Amino acid sequence: MLGLMQDQPLLISSLIEFAERHHGDAEIVSRRAEGDIHRTTWREVAVRSRQVANALEAEQLLFSDRIATLAWNGYRHLELYYGVSGSGKVLHTINPRLHPDQIAWIANHAEDQILCFDLNFLPLVQAVHAKCGTIKKYVALCDADKLPVDSGIPNLVSYESWMGSRPGTYAWPTFDENSASSMCYTSGTTGNPKAALYSHRSTILHAYAAALPDVMALSARDSVLPVVPMFHVNAWGIPYSAALTGAKLVFPGPALDGKSVFELIEAEKVSFAAGVPTVWQMMLGHMQANGLKFSTLKRTVIGGSACPPAMINAFQQLYGVDVLHAWGMTEMSPLGTLCTLKNKHLSLPSEAQTAIRMKQGRAIFGVDMKIVDGDGNELPWDGKAYGDLLVKGPWIVKEYFKGEGGDPLLPDAEGRGWFPTGDVATIDADGFLQITDRSKDVIKSGGEWISSIDIENIAMAHPAVAMAACVGVAHPKWDERPIVVVVKKPNGEVSREELLAFYQGKTAKWQIPDDVVFVEAIPLGATGKILKTRLREQLRGYQLPQSA
Ligand code: ADP
Repeated sequence: MLGLMQDQPLLISSLIEFAERHHGDAEIVSRRAEGDIHRTTWREVAVRSRQVANALEAEQLLFSDRIATLAWNGYRHLELYYGVSGSGKVLHTINPRLHPDQIAWIANHAEDQILCFDLNFLPLVQAVHAKCGTIKKYVALCDADKLPVDSGIPNLVSYESWMGSRPGTYAWPTFDENSASSMCYTSGTTGNPKAALYSHRSTILHAYAAALPDVMALSARDSVLPVVPMFHVNAWGIPYSAALTGAKLVFPGPALDGKSVFELIEAEKVSFAAGVPTVWQMMLGHMQANGLKFSTLKRTVIGGSACPPAMINAFQQLYGVDVLHAWGMTEMSPLGTLCTLKNKHLSLPSEAQTAIRMKQGRAIFGVDMKIVDGDGNELPWDGKAYGDLLVKGPWIVKEYFKGEGGDPLLPDAEGRGWFPTGDVATIDADGFLQITDRSKDVIKSGGEWISSIDIENIAMAHPAVAMAACVGVAHPKWDERPIVVVVKKPNGEVSREELLAFYQGKTAKWQIPDDVVFVEAIPLGATGKILKTRLREQLRGYQLPQSA
């Protein structure tokens, strides 16, 4: 017997319709590439998304055709999120920090038909357009009078002239909720990038889940700043969850330096912000140097790479901001776990609570997870056993776009497929996940594993250290030994010996790095994460000290 509820597909267009009707006057504030502040509302974004849909209808595109963006976080990008997906096309957000050759490669692989780009990326588009054979039209996200002349880019129009004259009425089509809605390529640190292809259904379910109290706790009372980019994994789903809850959205545009982000938080009374640790590092540095405090920020979700305990403590103790440590990946839309305490933890002393907050947290309903040993046997949830982390759920990929890389899933005894995350983790009895490392970064020393994250976290707790990266170096006796590469703070002073002494008592003796290498900068990848592959290349020829 079937249930007797209405059969209504979960479609992204319903989010913008809801936001327009129920939260029409909630604000969308954007710092534009031009530097000025632009203000609009959910109502206006809905109208303009329909204008985008009408402009797309005039392009004679097919259902599921890909429309690419190279854009910062801003209202026009938001309109494309809804106009493109809502009308049955696929929004392909391209990470502008990728190498131009890689951008051309993925635009061709995705068979993008139109590319919409912020004017800051004009030189990039000029560099790649000749290699992008499938793109028929280029749309510069600007007013008609700002359209560059003699750019050399064929079929270039301004966004405002392209969509501005179109009607603001449009009947969003109804189709299968499993249809593709957007796509995002992984960074491809090994081999060519592969694309996660999200569906309307996966996006809506993820949007519901992300808004839950033990996840981001988004509401119509929030002013939300996604510093995480809309060009990578849909800014962690915030543009959708904000429409679902009617939250105010604040977009930072290209200005991601500590001063600009801090000023925007204060000016727009931001209550909730999301970002990767490297962005917050810049902002905390700016605040500490200038003796600043937040007046409205209450919570921040930090993920994408391990959040150093020193950062969690700084937010909590110096500024009274709750840090929600989160873990996820492109293939997971991206949210997997978030760290919030359970009722029984509330009576624990603050140090014990802090120890829990350091973990990456509990699975969100919709994400199943397990850790397994090398033979695929499930390991206990005791907080000690570590193994390969596998996940499954309705917003986790089952395969990559165009079947690239074959079937990624590992079947269990019941034949259900699990996605291997490439992370090594522990899970404790309360279900709190702790990422030990990426499996390719873990340091294998004398048959034991050393977590590079643990080694980095200790260095980051030293007051003179701005950034730290731990890598393994080949060792004749132990296979590999850890060294820590360190960038000092501008006025920070610490010697190799002092830093090594700082490790004493904070980790097992055999886990203490064999050496400290001071550098001016550590290479970061396209999503602001430490690029260990590049760092290892830079260290080629490096010799461990004789004593090691
Ligand atoms: P890419 O770096 O290729 O863009 P993702 O953005 O999907 O890929 O990154 C996913 C990976 O980032 C995870 O598999 C994990 O290794 C790492 N990661 C994400 N969040 C955290 C976290 N809070 N702590 C530790 N590692 C994390």
